[in-house]
Amino acid sequence: MAQRRSRPFHINGVSVPPGTRETVQLDVAQLYTHTPVNMPVHVVHGRRDGPVLCLSAAIHGDEINGIEIIRRVLALPQLRRIRGTLLAVPIVNVYGVLAQTRYLPDRRDLNRSFPGSPSGSLAARLANLFVSQVLARASHAIDLHTGTAHRSNLPQIRANLDDPTTLDLARSFAAPVIINSDLRDGSLRHVADERGIPVLLYEAGEALRFDEESIRLGVRGVVGVMRRLGMLPRVRVKYPPRQPVQVEMTRWVRAESSGILRTTVRLGQHVIKGDRIGLISDPFGDTETQVNAGFSGIVIGRVNLPLVHEGDALFHVARVREPEKASELVEELTGGNDSGN
Ligand SMILES: [Zn+2]
Repeated sequence: MAQRRSRPFHINGVSVPPGTRETVQLDVAQLYTHTPVNMPVHVVHGRRDGPVLCLSAAIHGDEINGIEIIRRVLALPQLRRIRGTLLAVPIVNVYGVLAQTRYLPDRRDLNRSFPGSPSGSLAARLANLFVSQVLARASHAIDLHTGTAHRSNLPQIRANLDDPTTLDLARSFAAPVIINSDLRDGSLRHVADERGIPVLLYEAGEALRFDEESIRLGVRGVVGVMRRLGMLPRVRVKYPPRQPVQVEMTRWVRAESSGILRTTVRLGQHVIKGDRIGLISDPFGDTETQVNAGFSGIVIGRVNLPLVHEGDALFHVARVREPEKASELVEELTGGNDSGN
């Protein structure tokens, strides 16, 4: 592959010379306390021309595993030999992270507010800034998320797997599970897809918690994608890497009654249709309702808070081709731990 020397990278009026790295501050609306607020973007600009990878986290302000994934990626010595450019934004929703909440102060969900506009709501303005200053300069994107409050996700990639390039990148991330998921209106994935930017969404762990397994798999995944894109040198491996499990469809099992939930399955476990996967009882133990798997598959998400109302989503089950094999593979890829805890 011809490797052209790169030119300085321009962002927000700052010029980052080839072979250097810099943190660039993007101004966002100040707090009502008259405190200035920035969205910092770290630019790692290689000497040689190549892809521009946008790596973002905390679009939902309480989903913090990605912040640590980005910190670890930025500490990798291999980045000195990067080809192309890495645009790392560990905290997109600055306001949400400050308040330790998913949302913005205007109670909007940033991941339903893309592409945004410079004259819209606070969420729309923040979305617009991110798209115009960061995403518009990227050729590829990885967006890091976790489960919502009190819910854990088995490390998984959600992406448009009908696109061969995206599928290839999803495989090279090597999360245990990859899901062909629909695009949500106003999501970062939606706007990236419209602009022809292949984008992976990594979902792992729980909101407001660091989950070591999810973080390690995330760092390894980002490095895997960067190698696949030729941004980092390829490594020779003795054995071909295991292919992630591709999911056909997923569904949440909901509580049939309100009460206190005891869980009898762990993330990644293979369940068979009709299996008891939890029990809901009243505080005295007089009545007990079984929670059963609606179809056979593997558990890719679950609630951690035992206090449940009728209708609450409890277990996220994914249908896969060979669930038993898939469960073994998941165990292998995650080191056999329940990444939910
Ligand atoms: Zn999220």
